[in-house]
Amino acid sequence: MQQAWIQLRCPACEEGWEANPADLPEPKQEYTCKHCDDTRKMAEFTQTQTDLRILKEFHGV
Ligand SMILES: [Zn+2]
Repeated sequence: MQQAWIQLRCPACEEGWEANPADLPEPKQEYTCKHCDDTRKMAEFTQTQTDLRILKEFHGV
């Protein structure tokens, strides 16, 4: 099984980091930035469409 890490970027503080989709909620659920505590929809943190697709595929949505 391929471990595809995805690139995240917070729209509020503009901090970027990598994360394992297994540690992230579904794209429609809320997620809190670990850098600035800003809460947004998970999908807003994905940096590219590819990252969003990987996250969706992981959760099967
Ligand atoms: Zn942030």
